[in-house]
Amino acid sequence: MRRAGDTLTGVDVLVCSACGTALTRPVQRLLQLPARQPLAGPAYAATVAPGQWAVDPEPAFRTGRGEPVGSGGCFVVHPDELLALPPHADPRRSSGCCGRDGLDGPNVVCPGCGAAVATVLDDCWTYREARLEPQLVTVRTAVAGDADSG
Ligand SMILES: [Zn+2]
Ligand SMILES: [Zn+2]
Repeated sequence: MRRAGDTLTGVDVLVCSACGTALTRPVQRLLQLPARQPLAGPAYAATVAPGQWAVDPEPAFRTGRGEPVGSGGCFVVHPDELLALPPHADPRRSSGCCGRDGLDGPNVVCPGCGAAVATVLDDCWTYREARLEPQLVTVRTAVAGDADSG
């Protein structure tokens, strides 16, 4: 459901700041992160639709005492919009009950330089998001030749 005014003009690609490798397909920036939509049970619909991205000023989770779990300010895309990023070498980073809960730090790395650039959340009870680390990732304008959506 796109409405005029929801997105900034132009299409971006999120790239590794260290080596410039593209990490996502071309995506268009939303003005703000959409509200998370709970499904039946503990599950959530994907926060951001394919083809879009948004900044989440908050960390993905907070502990019962309000301490952050994960970085604030992440660039959030639909998990399918990530290009093929290898898993982090530490298998605990990819832990979860049936998917990846993202509670143990970034779980996928840059294919160019190995920087731990993003956290995929796709467990049955978590939000469905790929969260790119703002300290390690740069936004650039998409150009012809960037991987197309789909
Ligand atoms: Zn699960
Ligand atoms: Zn890199």
